[in-house]
Amino acid sequence: MQKHLLHSPAGCGSLPLAAGKVVAPPLRAQGPVRRKTAAARSAEQQPGALSSGLLNKQFQPKLRTDRVIPSAATVDTATMVQSQRVYTFGKTKSQGDASMKQLLGGKGANLAEMSRIGLSVPPGLTITTDTCAEFHENGRTLPDGCWEEVLAGLRTVEAEMGCRLGDASAPLLLSVRSGAAVSMPGMMDTVLNLGLNDTCAAGLAKRSGDERFAYDAYRRFLDMYGDVVMGIPHHLFEDQLERLKAERRVSEDTALTAADLKLLVGRYKEVYKSLGKIFPEDPYEQLRLAIYAVFDSWQSERADVYRSVNGITGLKGTAVNVQAMAFGNMGLTSGTGVCFTRNPSTGERKLYGEYLINAQGEDVVAGIRTPEPIETLARTLPGAYQQLIDNCALLEKHYKDMQDIEFTVQEGKLYMLQCRSGKRTGAAAVRIAVELVDEGLVDIDTAVMMVEPGHLDQLLHPQFADEDAYKGDVLGTGLPASPGAAVGQAVFSAEDAEAWKSSGLPVVLVRRETSPEDVKGMYSAEGVLCQLGGMTSHAAVVARGWGKPCITGCPDLQVDEHNKIARINGHEIRQGDFISLNGSTGEIIRGKQPLAPPELAGDLGKFMSWVDARRRLGVLTNADTPEDAEEARKFGAEGIGLCRTEHMFFASEERIATVRRMIVAQTKEARLKALADLLPFQREDFEGILKAMSGLPVTIRLLDPPLHEFLPDGEMTDVCEALARDAGISVDEVYSTIEKLQEVNPMLGFRGCRLGITYPEITEMQVRAMFEAAVRVQQSGGAVQLDVMVPLVGTAAELKNQEQLVRRVAEQVMKEAGVRVPHRVGTMIEVPRAALQAGSIAKTAEFFSFGTNDLTQMTFGYSRDDIGKFLPSYLENGILPYDPFQVLDQEGVGELIKFAVERGRATRPNLKIGICGEQGGEPKTVAFLHEVGLDYVSCSPFRVPIARLAAAQAAVRSAKSKK
Ligand code: ADP
Ligand code: MG
Ligand code: MG
Repeated sequence: MQKHLLHSPAGCGSLPLAAGKVVAPPLRAQGPVRRKTAAARSAEQQPGALSSGLLNKQFQPKLRTDRVIPSAATVDTATMVQSQRVYTFGKTKSQGDASMKQLLGGKGANLAEMSRIGLSVPPGLTITTDTCAEFHENGRTLPDGCWEEVLAGLRTVEAEMGCRLGDASAPLLLSVRSGAAVSMPGMMDTVLNLGLNDTCAAGLAKRSGDERFAYDAYRRFLDMYGDVVMGIPHHLFEDQLERLKAERRVSEDTALTAADLKLLVGRYKEVYKSLGKIFPEDPYEQLRLAIYAVFDSWQSERADVYRSVNGITGLKGTAVNVQAMAFGNMGLTSGTGVCFTRNPSTGERKLYGEYLINAQGEDVVAGIRTPEPIETLARTLPGAYQQLIDNCALLEKHYKDMQDIEFTVQEGKLYMLQCRSGKRTGAAAVRIAVELVDEGLVDIDTAVMMVEPGHLDQLLHPQFADEDAYKGDVLGTGLPASPGAAVGQAVFSAEDAEAWKSSGLPVVLVRRETSPEDVKGMYSAEGVLCQLGGMTSHAAVVARGWGKPCITGCPDLQVDEHNKIARINGHEIRQGDFISLNGSTGEIIRGKQPLAPPELAGDLGKFMSWVDARRRLGVLTNADTPEDAEEARKFGAEGIGLCRTEHMFFASEERIATVRRMIVAQTKEARLKALADLLPFQREDFEGILKAMSGLPVTIRLLDPPLHEFLPDGEMTDVCEALARDAGISVDEVYSTIEKLQEVNPMLGFRGCRLGITYPEITEMQVRAMFEAAVRVQQSGGAVQLDVMVPLVGTAAELKNQEQLVRRVAEQVMKEAGVRVPHRVGTMIEVPRAALQAGSIAKTAEFFSFGTNDLTQMTFGYSRDDIGKFLPSYLENGILPYDPFQVLDQEGVGELIKFAVERGRATRPNLKIGICGEQGGEPKTVAFLHEVGLDYVSCSPFRVPIARLAAAQAAVRSAKSKK
């Protein structure tokens, strides 16, 4: 049969389905079982390692950086047909390049690029991501002509390799790999050693002179193909392997002889038969079905989950890369590894990676066997190691970023199998950006764009308060796979992690190893602890991407997932026990260790100074207390955009009692008395806040919430009685006030400026407290900029009313003290009518601050407190793209903002405009507000650095687009 194949000129004569539509077999019922590699598949001495070097010679790579490389763009637009679905890469010509990630996927585009710049890459072809979409749209059918294109591409691979798919005298072996435009590590499928059958395995043995290697490849192929393509549980193969090892009384795979492996191949085939599956002997059929399986894996559940958890949308599908194999399993001078050009946890400029001698494929990334550090390669094969170092340097120069690299060494010769810009922690992102500038590889604008707002978010997460304090509680140490501090209760399955998290409990996920099916549980956890795996195992890569602390490869830890218990150095960790992980040191610590907020210093300080030099938007903070204000200044806040005075009303029993007396007062005199008692509290708060901000603008909002929020529930008879005594009124009067203040729709009720207009004495007291505080600060030598903000204005007359009151009291206080306090009076724009009337409102207002929580609430008509009931189904059905209370709705609410900015500035050109809603620290919103021309954003203290970065990135982006 193989002969027949080879004689057909196109190489596809024997294929029943070679032309036209090819219909796929039914989808496997379940997602694929992640390959598990036996621990015994070790790097031990392999007798009779390949010496002929035959396979090796065919690559003959040379560095060709001096050569002029034809641009891919000219190749495909000018000379190729529009609907080209297959792009080849190789020594002679690569049709793709790094710019074509959308079409070829990241892996395919970079394989082409690496070939172009002369690195040794096994040749191959890439089927486009568009084809994946077509495949699924056509009911899992390859589009017309696609298979022929694959075969034509295969011919060029065969020509470069000097061997052919299915040719027993010189068999070509292939890997079939997935790869989307955005990297999704481990989420989709790969098949290695494709092209083997009985005759080709015999041929490979003869040609390589290494029978053991040939049958090792064959049994790996049967296993992987069965698992990925045929849906046969991997453990059925693993069971056979273990059985044979037991029969031979050996513990390592490598101790099995060629004859043993041949026997194993037979038993693997029995596994297929026992399940009624037919192993396709025809390599072309193998290839076709493997391509289908990779396309199918795009829609597997775990890939779906990964995309939704990471917010990956808008991709067409995965590409398929069909590539000649490089063999890492040809004995001691062969092996496989992964490395980062810099440390992805810390950013240190030092090769960081792992290597397994005499191993293949996913042995490293599967996280089953703990691999050896990359220095092993330096020790055993210095030539290949040096080549790797050179390639890393070349790739960093070329891509101007830290790279994540997969490679294989075949008989001492290095092959590059993948490169991409490496996922990194926040700390690493900042350090790498700073050092790349110092090294002259990128300019500052580029560096500013290299750190994602989410990276800063990670850096602002808590660290352990005192790393020396917990030393007595350290239970053991594993590999520090992803830095940071995590504290939570131990759980032993991904499902438990999700369930506990959703009931509000912080968890640490403890596993023997993690597989891609665990992603959701990992996401729910504060941190992840794995008994097995290395620094580049699945868990580590995924955790680092999220900035989640992770510890892997801990030899002292025994995890019993079944019984939900782990043992470590004589201690037991049971489900629900608190443990703490230090992902930066690998320490596993007993109990709930205290955490502390982080600091902005060192590289981060330098980076933030670049950020600040680039942004136009000011970044202020929302802070209600002197402590928050101080915290925010440390994070770089340039003032307070929103201080909600009423948040301090609950600060003590005495305060809230005074507030309640003010509310239940039956006469104006009684109210004035209560207000007079409240004044010193407010003045003290304001003084603290103004001091903390030393001259930066402090925007204080007048009382906003409906008054009933401060009153006790009518059921709380004790409190009501005490209040009656306190206020000198009857309990019935208390009850009737509570009743009177009840509202059907409090958010649209008696609140905001409506309070101050009805009870001017409240506004008077607050303004007096503000200005008296300001006077005190000034008299003690401090500077002040006080901005008084009137909430919930809908008409110009409302603002005018309050503004006159504010100015009258302010003048009075300043006159009494004999000093001037720099101040402005402005308003929130949070009622849609105010946005529409911005022109007339700006006659009175010296500043606007968009209160986008209420503005969103009133523009959509969604109650912010009730949106949770329907938001999930809105998101699921694509009715809303996101929660508009977190990400500003640019089309609707944003349109009102634009309109109000325009009208407001038309009336008052120097009108200061900002935002103080929740969305003010969200990067997409910040970018929008930059474009709209706001002066500042104000957000919670922890988001200040993120908003600074987002503002800088918006400025860099718009400067670029104007060029
Ligand atoms: P993933 O996207 O999950 O990393 P890959 O397509 O990179 O999947 O394949 C997984 C592993 O298979 C790689 O790390 C590499 O070691 C191995 N592999 C892939 N292609 C080849 C090849 N042509 N030769 C040898 N090994 C390969
Ligand atoms: Mg890979
Ligand atoms: Mg509001």
